Order: sequence, then C-alpha cells, then structure tokens
Amino acid sequence: MALVDVEDVGTTVRQKLPPHRRLQVWEATGGRCVLCDQKIDGARERWIAEHIRALELGGVDDLVNMGPAHEACALEKTKDDHHRAGKAKRQKLRHIGAEASKRPMPCGKASPWKRKLSGEIVAR
Ligand SMILES: [Zn+2]
Repeated sequence: MALVDVEDVGTTVRQKLPPHRRLQVWEATGGRCVLCDQKIDGARERWIAEHIRALELGGVDDLVNMGPAHEACALEKTKDDHHRAGKAKRQKLRHIGAEASKRPMPCGKASPWKRKLSGEIVAR
C-alpha cells in the first residue's frame, strides 16, 4: 500500500456528461448563460456545460453546480479559475509549511552548496 496518493485532493474527479445530462444542464436555466445571463442560441452558438464552482477549486461534479455557458464566456472564467486555483495551492503550501524556502540557509540542506567537514564549500 502506497503511503502517498498521487491524486490531488483539492480537485474533484470529472465525470463524462451524456447527452441527456447535457439537456438537464440546459433546462436548469432554460438556456440562459450562467456567466453573462444572456440567452444562448443553441443552434447557432457553441455552448458548454459549465461548472459554476470550478472542480479544481473543490466544486462538485453535479447538476446543482452546473449550468450552460457560452464557450467564449467559459474561456474567460476558466482562465480566472486557473489563476485562483494556483494561488490557493501556493497559499496552502505556505500554510502547511511545505513550501521550499526562497532564502535557504547558507550551505543548508535546501542550498545548492554544501560545506564539507574540512570547511571546503562544494556544489551539491
Ligand atoms: Zn455568456
């Protein structure tokens, strides 16, 4: 048994969305974009089933967290979500003390240099 699970605990696993579920997502708002609140013309405009709270930010992969969105609107939101998820991960690393120090101790374990018992300093 592995002690370390490689799966990122902060990210929810994404399920495949079958057509009937995609229809449910559409019906949830009556075809209104959850991001810009404009009506989506399903026949002419490309739309996706958007996770209102991003999976990588701990949102659930369920209908209550989903709604239709224009592809263009979703692209903007995804960029913002990635930005926020990256920040959240950096904050968590700092909070639990797992972040590598930006100023390692001279010749310490995190330093690229080490001092031998003889006093000689060599690259690791
Ligand atoms: Zn939109």
